Amino acid sequence: MLVNAKESVLEELFDQYIDQLHMSCLCQRCREDVLALALNAVKPQYVTDRTKLAYIKAELVDKQKNTSMLVTLAEAARIVNENPHCEYRKKGRV
Ligand SMILES: [Zn+2]
Repeated sequence: MLVNAKESVLEELFDQYIDQLHMSCLCQRCREDVLALALNAVKPQYVTDRTKLAYIKAELVDKQKNTSMLVTLAEAARIVNENPHCEYRKKGRV
């Protein structure tokens, strides 16, 4: 199993801080756009097994690192909010 640990960590942070990110739309597309932007902004950290993944997650719970990931996530959320690509927003329904 090859997995980018940052992906898993960012997904969790996203769910955890969803209220503070003030997303104007929470459809699958917008969520993925935010995660894609955030993931492109951070260095990937690939691991090959779940044990290591849990270890990295625990390490990233460390406040300082967590904060910088959150800043990246907030910036990505801001970009998607300003320029959403999903169908709902294009139609002006939200
Ligand atoms: Zn959307």
